[in-house]
Amino acid sequence: FTMRQPLVAGNWKMNGSRASVAALLDGLKAGIGQVTTAEVAVCAPAILIADTQASLQGSSIKWGGQDLSVHESGAYTGEIAGPMLADFGCHYVIIGHSERRAYHGESDALVAEKFVAARNAGLVPILCVGETLEERESGITEQVVARQIDAVVAHCGIDKVGEGVIAYEPVWAIGTGKTATPEQAQEVHAFIRGRLAASSASVAEDMQILYGGSMNPKNAAELIGQADIDGGLIGGASLKADDFLAVCSAANG
Ligand code: PEP
Repeated sequence: FTMRQPLVAGNWKMNGSRASVAALLDGLKAGIGQVTTAEVAVCAPAILIADTQASLQGSSIKWGGQDLSVHESGAYTGEIAGPMLADFGCHYVIIGHSERRAYHGESDALVAEKFVAARNAGLVPILCVGETLEERESGITEQVVARQIDAVVAHCGIDKVGEGVIAYEPVWAIGTGKTATPEQAQEVHAFIRGRLAASSASVAEDMQILYGGSMNPKNAAELIGQADIDGGLIGGASLKADDFLAVCSAANG
């Protein structure tokens, strides 16, 4: 018997304007009353977090950032610090998204430092892991995911890792419309939970492990219905209120 609460988090990436975000959040607030058991969050571009906070304050929807600096403050032009996100009411922050690993050269070691920076600011890190198509076709999916998770466990310790959320996001499924099958996703989720269990059975049991990669209203229920899939990290489908709410409803059991 598990007590893991389903979580659906939107990742807006670099999309939206003040006007479009206001409309999207109005739509979410209008429909979120139906979602009673699943937890729901949106991760906004940094410059739109203040508007997001103003709109969502007092609602059941949480919000977060998409990245943070490893530093708390100082001469790091262009960066956003964890305490700044916390100051604007963020609950979550995505770390190690594959787009940041690929386009900004983020290493496993840097991502581990970001995990600590997030916790130091009181934020809940959503740690993204996942293999590329080439890695899957080479049969090293588990090796890659293990390496990405082990780096954080080695740096922070398993109990600290237990304070975060993990998102399994096969890179080949992100933004491609190509979703992992429920069986493919469940296999890796079970592997991740087993990997955590090698360090702590209770952390493994309690860890929310989200699936990400072209999750949408059509496939969400079947994915989230898998034993080790505790919700979703949603890119494209988080930009339309009706689609995002439908995914949230699917996670609501
Ligand atoms: C993501 O970027 O985390 C993601 C899952 O994107 P999409 O849903 O668009 O594949």
